[in-house]
Amino acid sequence: MRYVSTRGRAEPLGFADVLLDGLARDGGLFVPEHWPTLPPLEELRGRSFAEVAVEVTWPFVDGEVDRADYERIVAAAYATFDSPEVCPVVPLGSLPSGAPLHLLELFHGPTLAFKDVALQLVGRLFDHVLDERDQRICVLGATSGDTGSAAMHACAGLERVDACILYPAGRTSEVQRRQMTTLIEDNLCAVEVPGTFDDCQDLVKAAFADVEFRDEVHLAAINSINWARVMAQVTYYVTAHLAVSPDGAPVTFVVPTGNFGNVLAAWVAARCGLPVDRLVVASNRNDVLTRFFTTGTMSIAEVVPTTSPSMDIQVSSNLERLLFEALDRDGAAVASMLERFRSDGSVSVDVEVLGRLRAEFDCGRIDDEVAASVIRSVHERTGLVVDPHTAVGIGVAEWLDATGPGLDPGVPVVCAATAHPAKFPDAVEAATGIRPVLPAELADLFDRPERFERIPADLAALETLVRRRVV
Ligand SMILES: *Cc1c(COP(=O)(O)O)cnc(C)c1O
Repeated sequence: MRYVSTRGRAEPLGFADVLLDGLARDGGLFVPEHWPTLPPLEELRGRSFAEVAVEVTWPFVDGEVDRADYERIVAAAYATFDSPEVCPVVPLGSLPSGAPLHLLELFHGPTLAFKDVALQLVGRLFDHVLDERDQRICVLGATSGDTGSAAMHACAGLERVDACILYPAGRTSEVQRRQMTTLIEDNLCAVEVPGTFDDCQDLVKAAFADVEFRDEVHLAAINSINWARVMAQVTYYVTAHLAVSPDGAPVTFVVPTGNFGNVLAAWVAARCGLPVDRLVVASNRNDVLTRFFTTGTMSIAEVVPTTSPSMDIQVSSNLERLLFEALDRDGAAVASMLERFRSDGSVSVDVEVLGRLRAEFDCGRIDDEVAASVIRSVHERTGLVVDPHTAVGIGVAEWLDATGPGLDPGVPVVCAATAHPAKFPDAVEAATGIRPVLPAELADLFDRPERFERIPADLAALETLVRRRVV
C-alpha cells in the first residue's frame, strides 16, 4: 500500500515513512492510495480483538512489517487493556423511537480514554520500525490532558523512543496530570510550563520549526493527524458491528468528536465495506463540524470551555481527509480550499458536495446542561455512569431520534464511549451526585510520587531540556 497526500504535491510513501513522518511534505495528510476490502464479517466472528485488528489493518501495513512481527505487536498492544474484549459493547436500552442503543466502551486502556486504542499500537510500531532502521526519535508534544497521557503511556519503556510532553501548569485535571507525572520510565519526561495549552503548543511548534534542532534530536510528532492512529481505530467499528448485528445488517455509529479523528475511522471502515447506515457527528458547543455538515460552510469561531474539554476544538484537522475524497481526490482543490479558510476564516463546499456528505453523515450539538441531564437520566434509567464526552454522543442520538426524519428504528445505534467517567469526576458528580472511582489498576494514583520538569515558556529552555534527555 502506498499513501498519497491530500494536497497532491508530495511523493507517495509507504507505511513506515507515513508512520514516522506524520505530515506530508506539502502540508497535507496521508491517505491510502486505494481503499482495501475488509475480510467477510463471517470470517471475523468469534475471533479476539487482536486477531480482528490484524485482519482489518493488515492491508494498510502489508509489505512494510513482517506478518509474524505484526501479530506479536498487535497482541502486546491490546494486552494492556483491562477488558478481555478490549473494547466491549454494552446495551443501553433503546431510543424512544425503538432503535436499540449500545455503548462502545473505548476507555479500557491504561489512560482511560479512546486514544489508548490507537496509541498503544502506534508506540510499538514506532519502536519496531526504528529498530529495523537503526534510528531513534524523540516524540515531542503539547497536551491539554488526554493526548499527552496516552502518548506517554504508549512510549513508556520503548527502546528507541524518548517522549517529552508539555502541559500547562494547573490547567489539566489532577487525574490527567498524575497519569503523566507518576510514570517511572526513564525515556519519558513530563514538562510543566506556566501558561495555557496554546503556550505549550506554540513552544512545540517553535521547536519543530528550528530545523537544525529538529534534525539533531530527531523530533517526531504523535498527534491525531498520524494515519496510523486512524487506521488502528477502524478495528473497533468492525468489532462493534460484529457484536450488535449478528446478520451483518447496517449499523449507525454516533461519535462525540472535535478533531474528526475518531469518526473518520468509522467512515474508513464504511469505505472498506462495513455496512453502515448513518455516521453521526456529535459536537459540544464548539460545533464547527456540526455547522459544516449542516450548511457546507466551515468557519472559525472562538473556542469555549465545556465539560467535555477533549472536544474543545474549532479547527478539525482530520476533516481534510474527508474533503479530499468528497472533492474526488483533487489535491489542488483541497489545498486551495484550505488556503481560503486560512486567509478568510471561512470556506464553503458547493451544494452537490454537501449533498454527497449528507448522504452518509448526520450531525448535532448539545450544550453542557443537556449533557449533564443525559448523564443523570442514563444513570437513573440503567445504573450506568457515562462521562461528559460520551453524554454528548448519547444526547445527540436522542435529539436526532426525536427530530426531523429521525433515526431508523430498525437499525442498531452504537455510541462511542470515549472516556471513563472517573477521568472527569467533577462533571459526573455535579450531574449525578456520585463521584466515580478509578479502576483498580489506578486506585493508588493519588499516592504515587510525581516526577516532572518545570521550564519557562521559552524555546532555549525547552531545547536544553530535550538535548539533556535524549543523550
Ligand atoms: C480526544 C477525545 C475526543 C475527540 O476525539 P476526535 O479525534 O477529535 O474525534 C473525544 N473524547 C475524548 C474523551 C477524547 O479524549
